[in-house]
Amino acid sequence: MKKRGIAASKGYAIGRVVIKEDAEIIIVETKITDLESEKARLKKALEISREQLTKIKEKAEVELGAAKAAVFESHMMLLDDPEFTGAVEMNIESNMVNAEKALSDIIDMYMGIFAAMEDEYMKERAADVKDVGNRILANLAGKAGLGFEDLDKNTIVVAHDLTPSDTAQLDKSKVIGFLTNIGGRTSHSAIMARTLEIPAVVGLNDITKCVKDGDNIVLDGEEGLAIVNPDEATIAQYEEKKVAYEKEKEELKKLINVKTVTKAGKRVEVAGNIGKAKDIHQVLENGGDGVGLFRTEFLYMDRDDMPTEEEQFEAYKYVGEKSEGKPIVIRTLDIGGDKKLPYLPLPEEMNPFLGYRAIRLCLDRKDIFKIQLRALLRASAYGNIKIMFPMISSLEEFLASKEILNECMDELRGEGKAFNADLEVGMMVEIPAAAICADELAKYVDFFSIGTNDLIQYTLAADRMNEKISYLYKPNHPAVLRLIKMTIDAAHKEGKWCGMCGEVAGDESMIPTLVEYGLDEFSMSATSILKAKQVIMNN
Ligand code: PEP
Ligand code: MG
Repeated sequence: MKKRGIAASKGYAIGRVVIKEDAEIIIVETKITDLESEKARLKKALEISREQLTKIKEKAEVELGAAKAAVFESHMMLLDDPEFTGAVEMNIESNMVNAEKALSDIIDMYMGIFAAMEDEYMKERAADVKDVGNRILANLAGKAGLGFEDLDKNTIVVAHDLTPSDTAQLDKSKVIGFLTNIGGRTSHSAIMARTLEIPAVVGLNDITKCVKDGDNIVLDGEEGLAIVNPDEATIAQYEEKKVAYEKEKEELKKLINVKTVTKAGKRVEVAGNIGKAKDIHQVLENGGDGVGLFRTEFLYMDRDDMPTEEEQFEAYKYVGEKSEGKPIVIRTLDIGGDKKLPYLPLPEEMNPFLGYRAIRLCLDRKDIFKIQLRALLRASAYGNIKIMFPMISSLEEFLASKEILNECMDELRGEGKAFNADLEVGMMVEIPAAAICADELAKYVDFFSIGTNDLIQYTLAADRMNEKISYLYKPNHPAVLRLIKMTIDAAHKEGKWCGMCGEVAGDESMIPTLVEYGLDEFSMSATSILKAKQVIMNN
């Protein structure tokens, strides 16, 4: 039997199934009489949870790196958040119920808030709350451990879903892959699998019902397939694929310190896209030439208030300092559309993707914009930082953005604060109007970066999130290709450089065309960098 899901982490695995049963936690409400001892039970369970998480975090730091281990820090933060623990205590006290019931009510409330958010990333954070909640509940019940201790070699874990702490506890010498019923490419388990370099397929719907413990199974992380009890020919075919894949991965490592040069002798940069300051390390470890897109909106998410100038300055400075002098392109806030902030309510719109978002919002809310620009400028004293404006549709918008930037420079000068007055200022080309007017815009910008994720959806009028019409969302549509070429040509005519930070930049089938068009910089997720370097060098 063959089942298709979402390819979450590359590679192949051939092994035996171990189903991870979710220990079902049944909450029984009981009335209490001794309030203090119930609160003490809660306190104890929180303490044990904290100790467990400290251990998991330490393990994750060694195996996954600091950036990925940070998720457990956020779990610990929830445990220490007086608003959260206070709400549980209050619930015990006001309803005189047991800690389990009080806790599960509050967990449900928190999960509801996250799950209702439109942004996929924020939605997935509901899973974090559930993960922490289940841990505390298990500790209230005196149950420890998660049952990953006695696995055999060549185990493929099959589960309804894997929590971040499950994933971090997987022993790579035993577990060679995992399959889940739910989840998407942005779920934590998928991100962790990519970091651990364990192949994984998620979103398989009912894989837990289609297999039993001990079944043979083939996991194809390239195509997003699970083949249950495969015949010998299939196994042999996948053995071959696996060997070829591992060999290639080893070969690719040789390219980490190699400068990328095309067959025609042109030096191009292959950079990484990041969402958090600490992601810079993974980019450098994978041989990235810097950062081509820092999506700063992630600094604004997962919190209750706007990040201050100082907080932002620290994050941008961190990337600047750690980047070994390599260029770091930081994009100003791209909020609105699919990305919303809990503390910045925006009116409902008929067409959010065509609405009040990104640079439009920033030009309207100069107060918010200036805080970020000041932080970015101050950080430019600590690294090769470049600023990029998103969603520019006209020259007026670019010039208006630059004017506010100049205003910030004047302020900082007046305050005697250091910044790089010559830092490069560019824009994303992700609206067809910008590509069409690229010849004019190129006179004023220092660089372009083509955002194909949006450029394709706007050019072809095909929503990038709508599966029903995904057949229309074609990176190689002649209209898209023409706009890409026009943009690159326009930049070069004015002696400027042109990069690309949309998904197309890391698409192996598109890279040859982009090389032919003369693209100067390719920016993508860190784990795609080495393969992209290889493809570019062969073209
Ligand atoms: C793009 O639109 O291609 C892009 C890189 O921006 P985002 O995916 O953040 O919209
Ligand atoms: Mg975009």
